[in-house]
Amino acid sequence: MPTRRAFLKTAGAAALAPLARAESARPPNVVMIYADDLGYGDLGCYGSPLRTPHLDRMAAEGVRFTQFYSANPVCSPSRASLMTGRYPTRVGVPRVLFPTDQTGLPHSEVTIARMLKGREYRTMCIGKWHLGHLPQFLPARHGFDEYFGSPYSNDMKPTPLLHNTETLEEPARQDTLTLRYTEQAVKFIERSKDAPFFLYMPHTFPHIPLHASARFRGRSKAGLYGDVIEELDWSVGEVLGALKRAGVENHTLAMFSSDNGPWYQGSPGQLRGRKGATYEGGVREPFLARFPGRIPAGSVCTGVGSTLDVLPTVARLCGAALPPNPLDGIDIWPLLTGQKQQLEREALLYFDNLHVQCARWKQWKLHLARYNSAAYNPAPQGGRVNLPLPSPELYDLEADPDESYDVAAENPQVVAEIRARIERLMSGFPEPVQQAYRETLARKVGGTATGAVPRLAQ
Ligand code: MG
Repeated sequence: MPTRRAFLKTAGAAALAPLARAESARPPNVVMIYADDLGYGDLGCYGSPLRTPHLDRMAAEGVRFTQFYSANPVCSPSRASLMTGRYPTRVGVPRVLFPTDQTGLPHSEVTIARMLKGREYRTMCIGKWHLGHLPQFLPARHGFDEYFGSPYSNDMKPTPLLHNTETLEEPARQDTLTLRYTEQAVKFIERSKDAPFFLYMPHTFPHIPLHASARFRGRSKAGLYGDVIEELDWSVGEVLGALKRAGVENHTLAMFSSDNGPWYQGSPGQLRGRKGATYEGGVREPFLARFPGRIPAGSVCTGVGSTLDVLPTVARLCGAALPPNPLDGIDIWPLLTGQKQQLEREALLYFDNLHVQCARWKQWKLHLARYNSAAYNPAPQGGRVNLPLPSPELYDLEADPDESYDVAAENPQVVAEIRARIERLMSGFPEPVQQAYRETLARKVGGTATGAVPRLAQ
């Protein structure tokens, strides 16, 4: 680990170093690898006993974030925010989409891929899309030249494997999905090395049911979950290796994260909560970013980042025009490069379905509301309802990252400040989101459902 002084010096030099002439003529490539249901505590470089040497090397060669968030603790909304830089409650995907759904990410939303098409990028999505499975919502309609993958979660039926809009298999042979995704990614990099490219690789795993290829089954010391993680890690190594062989590793921003916290397996580390919860374990994710020569090797960022920030950051880095829709994310390039350790924002909101439940400001996190039963537990009689807490709970995440000690009573001015920030932000949301907020606050604590209950997200 470099000293702080050495780190700042390296970071400053990397951020200011002029690009070589050939590189400056062409915007950099972007690779985003996105695991499904992988926990904050599931990588070696985040303290896990699981073996992830390639991801650990990626961290050692780039920056590792310790406070990076998904905007939502479940699959589809997280992807919506990653792709658009906007809260999922703004873009019409506030909950998980099912094969029975006829909806998806609307065309009024501009994805990273569509944004980069404006800079003539080659674009490919490989893996679990989960933003609408009907042809009009698939990646080809959202800026991707090509798509190879399974369009939603691997526990949903049917489970097709698609190439663009054509079904290659049904059901998909899941044991070789990671292997085949990886082969596709390597080929895409090989054939795209002469043009700027964007590879978005949302893996199917470690979402359950777990599957690993024959080469990895039984290999780890941590059961099938460990096998799956080791294969994902191998896949990351293959992608980084392909960048190197193609001669573009020094001209590529490669990122790794996960859509939400761990489900029944996997580890949230020391954090409280899992998938489906707005406690930290449900939404705080590993985030690694590597760009040799631009991002200082071996750095750790303790500032707050979000999947919402990926689009504006990529836009700035690649010289792409920002979408016309107002963004919720901010450009975190100064965090990636170590120029800054923290950036200002009004607050970071934690949504579950349409409901804002918490907000993060500085080191503080305020919990306002919570469902009357935890996710994936049986719903109580009358349905699952978002209720205001008897009194808002405030946690100091620097001193108490696992949200054990409510310090609201000692910090009334912080509670008031965050509430005011939530109110300001909420006034800019679509009316159904504002209405859900008002209805939650108007509910009596311990009351039962009286109106329509939003569909349970998974
Ligand atoms: Mg997920």
